[in-house]
Amino acid sequence: MTRGKLFVISGPSGVGKGTICKKLFEADDNLRFSVSMTTRAPREGEVEGKDYFFVSKERFEELLQDGQLLEYNKFVDNYYGTPRGPVVEWMEQGYDVLLEIDYHGAFQVREAYPEAVLVFIAPPSVEELKARIRGRGTETEEQIEGRIAQAMDDMAQADEFDYLVLNDDLNTAVWKVQQVMRIEKGKEV
Ligand code: ADP
Ligand code: 5GP
Repeated sequence: MTRGKLFVISGPSGVGKGTICKKLFEADDNLRFSVSMTTRAPREGEVEGKDYFFVSKERFEELLQDGQLLEYNKFVDNYYGTPRGPVVEWMEQGYDVLLEIDYHGAFQVREAYPEAVLVFIAPPSVEELKARIRGRGTETEEQIEGRIAQAMDDMAQADEFDYLVLNDDLNTAVWKVQQVMRIEKGKEV
């Protein structure tokens, strides 16, 4: 059996990563989503074990010490990380695995798995990014400011990625990420 491939999707908060990933999963049965662990509070409608594993800071630090996280980062006062076990098992079973994580995490994954494919999702403009974050309506104004400041830092890392996909028209962006996946999988045939 061919080992699955590891894909990493990064980009500033509010650029549309979650929206794109949802469409990728709807279209590909062989793709598995790595559910991250976080210490932030669940947003309205978020489901434990589906959107995130919501844990305390103490529990997160325990798992980190124990080597159970493939990568992690602290973002706007909260920890986020990828549980190692499922990612390794899925790839061994032949599934492709998608991580939706920030660039700090993406570069840690590249260190651990140099063959991982890193895709950066970029917004059409900073104004549009702000509008999307505000439009989502899930953060306070203070949190929004924090995320926008972070977004500027994120954008500066785009060149370090293997691919850059502009999320202007959603369906075009999804199609482009799917093309990246096909090309990268084709390399192993
Ligand atoms: P992220 O996961 O990167 O933080 P989301 O997927 O939550 O971003 O998207 C942020 C907001 O932008 C959502 O309200 C989403 O519906 C909207 N959005 C995503 N992609 C597009 C797009 N191509 N055009 C317009 N709005 C979009
Ligand atoms: P949010 O709070 O909007 O769900 O996520 C905030 C940021 O954390 C986003 O940039 C998101 O990509 C990133 N993130 C989510 N999960 C992980 C993870 O497991 N590891 C890392 N490094 N970043 C993550």
